[in-house]
Amino acid sequence: MTTVNVHAEELALATRVLADHDMIGMYGHVSVLPDPGADRYLLSPGAGFRKELCRAGDVIELGFDDAFRPGLPLELYMHSEMHRRHPEVRALVHTHAPALTELSLLAEVPGDALLLHAAFWPDVVPVYELPQLVVEREQASELIDVMGVESVALMRWHGAVVAGRSLSEAVFRSIYAEKNARLLLTSMRAGGEVVGLPKGPQREQIADRIITDRMLGLHWSYEGTGDARRHGAEETK
Ligand SMILES: [Zn+2]
Repeated sequence: MTTVNVHAEELALATRVLADHDMIGMYGHVSVLPDPGADRYLLSPGAGFRKELCRAGDVIELGFDDAFRPGLPLELYMHSEMHRRHPEVRALVHTHAPALTELSLLAEVPGDALLLHAAFWPDVVPVYELPQLVVEREQASELIDVMGVESVALMRWHGAVVAGRSLSEAVFRSIYAEKNARLLLTSMRAGGEVVGLPKGPQREQIADRIITDRMLGLHWSYEGTGDARRHGAEETK
């Protein structure tokens, strides 16, 4: 099996897992840069495709300069420009998940991490404010500027993007960003004061301690086993 095939298998798995967590559905997609020096990336299929059915053969391989054409995700440039400008970001998820989208509506988005496993949540959450889909390269570049070095950026009236140094990290962060967003919304409605994790370097240390490569590997394997149960071991080969 070639390297690209291995990455296509993994991206297809990530696509199914995110779909099964309601992180991506008709809209939303995930990409991976196979290696840091690559100028091509892999992307999950576009809006007409049932993401929970994604297989390696459905994964799309594109060059950074490839333009949108029917059949590709409409908002693909956020992936090409992120991987072009930040090769250390090996995987990017775009989601319209409900809690993250609802959080994007708040005038001030809380920078509280309410879970140890969401310690990657930014102290100051970047928000892309333009009322438009990201369908031009320039708009994608603006989104990446807004995101800076953070793991998560919200897109007002729209959703979010989540970055990872690996596919497993991007999938993990997406799932836990949505959980953190849900907890923030619930606690705000309850009206009680909540205590978030410390901010700044202390939060980074917590993230490093809790979200280790080993833990990410366990999470990936856990999700992979669940995927095999849901979609059949035969089909995942
Ligand atoms: Zn979108």
